[in-house]
Amino acid sequence: MEIAERFINYTKFDTQSAEDSQTVPSTPKQLIFAKYLKEELEREELKDVEMDEMGYIYATLPSNSKKKIPTIGFISHYDTALDASGANIKARIVRNYDGGDIQLNPNMVSSPAMFPELLEHKGEDLIVTDGTTLLGADDKAGIAEIVQAMCYLRDHPEIEHGDIRVGFNPDEEIGMGAHHFDVEKFGCDWGYTIDGGDLGELEYENFNAAGAKVFIHGVSVHTGYAKGKMVNASRLACEFNAMIPDTEIPEATEGYQASTICSG
Ligand SMILES: [Zn+2]
Repeated sequence: MEIAERFINYTKFDTQSAEDSQTVPSTPKQLIFAKYLKEELEREELKDVEMDEMGYIYATLPSNSKKKIPTIGFISHYDTALDASGANIKARIVRNYDGGDIQLNPNMVSSPAMFPELLEHKGEDLIVTDGTTLLGADDKAGIAEIVQAMCYLRDHPEIEHGDIRVGFNPDEEIGMGAHHFDVEKFGCDWGYTIDGGDLGELEYENFNAAGAKVFIHGVSVHTGYAKGKMVNASRLACEFNAMIPDTEIPEATEGYQASTICSG
């Protein structure tokens, strides 16, 4: 199977995770995809394919070498972000991208004027949506890449390798993906997460995605009698927001910038 077809098949599943859910995975629909993926791994003849009740999937491409080679692992997540709908995704391939605007639907374009990085992909085939949903390339692209790589190695025994483990998990987008990942069962000397970024990019650090929820309770009083009594929650929220230094926000920082400012 071609990698694009494999990926587009994945996008047909709605695997959006959900915050404030008490279950693992956070949404039962993720398990439907997990089952599909498990069966695909079995079809592609990976070994030790298993899926636990939380939807964590592990499998092995066995060593083809007599030498002792360390076991490495590749990991990606199959849930998608909460920013837009993950249902009814209509993926489309834009062949040989010409560097112009991509008309996603009558009212929406993806334009290099807004996203100049598109120009780095001139001449390539791009996979886009109709603009109304997520594509879910984060991180189904990672899964497609890993599975495709395993198939390539399976079909090319002349490439010598040790045991390779693959692991796929739900609920990364809500910060819960690693919580139930069985590192011992995965059993690798080291592993890589295949998730986002440019071709050839390797990151060995991660940002801290800690969040805070701030609840502001005002005091509601009839406006005619409000003087000295009313506390307007939205005005307090604005005041609170204004206290956050405007040089320490994501849109004003890159690399180590924020932490450098914070520490000194
Ligand atoms: Zn991701």
